[in-house]
Amino acid sequence: MRIDINCPSLPGAYILVVDLAEPLGFGIAGGRAVRLEPGRYAYCGSARGPGGLAGRLSRHLRTRKPMHWHVDHLTGAGRIAAIGICVDGRECDLLDAIARLPGTWIPVPGLGSSDCTRCAAHLAAVDPGFGPSAIGLTDALAA
Ligand SMILES: [Zn+2]
Repeated sequence: MRIDINCPSLPGAYILVVDLAEPLGFGIAGGRAVRLEPGRYAYCGSARGPGGLAGRLSRHLRTRKPMHWHVDHLTGAGRIAAIGICVDGRECDLLDAIARLPGTWIPVPGLGSSDCTRCAAHLAAVDPGFGPSAIGLTDALAA
């Protein structure tokens, strides 16, 4: 499947909105087992390397790839419903904005945020109606 995204090759932050239809279990560092229930999730990440947002998001959209980050398990099992991008933004600020919305909760402390000391996690469970517009971002998948 080819997915077109409207996204610049600039550094910034993004939200992946992923729908999980089946329960998902996987292991993370420290031998912890993670289980996510079906529902809608928002993962906040950043892209500051070569290729910027476009490079990172095209990797997330590939269906066959090594499991490198926690979020790879989610995108591998679920469906990416929307992508919010924020040029020059920071993933922690996006997570803060999402965390203020009704219906948001953190299913697994530390998930997706191994390199962050500020956030409870970079993956949040969100309201089924959540989309990037809820925090003022456009949807790069729909644009
Ligand atoms: Zn953070």
